[in-house]
Amino acid sequence: MCGIVGVVGSRNATDILIQGLQKLEYRGYDSSGIFVTDEEHNEHLIKAVGRISELQRKIGIDVNGTTGIGHTRWATHGKPTENNAHPHVSESGRFVLVHNGVIENFLEIKNEYLEGHHFLGQTDTEVAVHLIGKFVEEDGMTTKEAFCKALDIIVGSFAFVMIDKEEPDTLYVGKNKSPLLVALGNGYNMVCSDAMAMIRETHDFLEIHDGERVIVKADSVEILNEAGELVSREPFVAELDLSDIGKGTYPYYMMKEIDEQPAVMRRISSKYTDENGNVVVDSEIVQAVNDSDRVYIVACGTSYHAGWASKMFFEKMTEIPVEVHLASEFGYNIPLLSKKPLFIFLSQSGETADSRQVLVKVSKLGHKVLTITNVAGSTLSREADYTMLLHAGPEIAVASTKAYTAQIATMAVLAKTVGVFRKNTIAEEFDLTKELGLVANAMSAVVAEKEVIEAITAENLLTTRNAFYIGRGNDYYVSMEAALKMKEISYIQCEGFAAGELKHGTIALIEDGTPVLAMISQKEVAAHTRGNVMEVLSRGANTIVISSEECAEVGDDFVINTVHPFLTTLAMVVPAQLIAYYATLQRGLDVDKPRNLAKSVTVE
Ligand code: GLU
Repeated sequence: MCGIVGVVGSRNATDILIQGLQKLEYRGYDSSGIFVTDEEHNEHLIKAVGRISELQRKIGIDVNGTTGIGHTRWATHGKPTENNAHPHVSESGRFVLVHNGVIENFLEIKNEYLEGHHFLGQTDTEVAVHLIGKFVEEDGMTTKEAFCKALDIIVGSFAFVMIDKEEPDTLYVGKNKSPLLVALGNGYNMVCSDAMAMIRETHDFLEIHDGERVIVKADSVEILNEAGELVSREPFVAELDLSDIGKGTYPYYMMKEIDEQPAVMRRISSKYTDENGNVVVDSEIVQAVNDSDRVYIVACGTSYHAGWASKMFFEKMTEIPVEVHLASEFGYNIPLLSKKPLFIFLSQSGETADSRQVLVKVSKLGHKVLTITNVAGSTLSREADYTMLLHAGPEIAVASTKAYTAQIATMAVLAKTVGVFRKNTIAEEFDLTKELGLVANAMSAVVAEKEVIEAITAENLLTTRNAFYIGRGNDYYVSMEAALKMKEISYIQCEGFAAGELKHGTIALIEDGTPVLAMISQKEVAAHTRGNVMEVLSRGANTIVISSEECAEVGDDFVINTVHPFLTTLAMVVPAQLIAYYATLQRGLDVDKPRNLAKSVTVE
């Protein structure tokens, strides 16, 4: 969460920082700030509550410099106020710092080292910059010594970028668990939480690893490991296109990303197909899954739902049992594991802190780990034994859409290849390329009818405070995701239920006019779910039925093309994404940036 940028040695520091922050706004947007300076010490510290546009309003044309840092915040400690916004300054004001993450021992540090210091806000971050200032100004250390010593003391997750006002040609950078990259410009250098922020300036980036301290100047980057030894590292080229991260003609990223899903399905299909038309995955990955006696999918939020949506086909094609776990629970309560477990981490960003803490633990136990992510080179990818990429392109709307469907499709690729390797007939007969093509067509057909969904939403969800999605099997799994989408952006309290469970309790909540959205795409259970629809209808619910062609009945509200029973979640989720989208728009809310949330959840 939160976005950090830094630049040193450019004539357009303010511009680079603001452009970068705008690209990182999806990571946090409750407040923001920049600090810029130059060789003549013309210093400007500007902060604002709210979106980056609020900050921009406060930046006059005189605000420029050669060196600077910027931050867009997702508050963990202290309300989103101007005083709590970053950059933070030390007691004397000489040191200026931005931070992404959580300092777990900030209170201990405050008590042990910083008696008599005055703090402007409540953040953990302010304690860090005061500590560095104290080491220099009270204890006589050099800035570099003080920065390194503070990093040794601080426990928690952090990406820090600091400026010492007396050295306006240097950025002090350090990281542990939170993402941070150095971006290499021509005659100037930059720092950012995500390559996206600086892709306008350069395609050349340097990874920074946990524990490293980096001194960035206009013409040099010095990376030191925890022992203080120089580390040499080759840059990598970020294969990002500026057009990938723009909205184009779409009003919101979320609509663009919903619309991209058919193309993503086809891209996944082609990326994992060899020249003979066979679906292929790195043989080491296939071997690792084949050798395991149980697959543990560990994930959070939408990715967790993608795990559930993959369980059934994965078990059918591989005959390996699959468990799906929430990362935030699993790490602190590890269940009894099988003898040869294989862990699959699903994470759009590859930076999810909850998942990472599990990854670190299970890797230490010696278990094999596969990360399935959208971001090559992300932390979860680097730290896993194997990676499979989603090839979904950057997902910027906070509510995930194409990453969910890409995760399920990629899991299908893996299940198919492992199943074929194990000579499982179901896997052999499952023509994944053809089926993903049909899914893509079904998705396009839904998007082509988005006005119908807009009307259904206006008619049924305009004023409601709550709603339910129900379904069985795959339709239950997709209901969980559909409900999450609705909650996170429209703020309608929405639950996804196994249809059969309704009468075991939840039906008590049904009253006159409660919207109940039923998902019916699987023939074997369609009649039962229809029975549940009748039950809630008799109790006054306002029912909306979304079905697949083969299960459709007259009067259903929206019908999708039939797709393979393994992949129904991929098509059924699209109307639900659009319902959440329109419910949000119709309430006059910001689709891409819902309150309290941020993309890429990098704190536990
Ligand atoms: N913990 C810091 C704060 O609350 C940083 C939060 C962030 O990563 O945005 O200000």
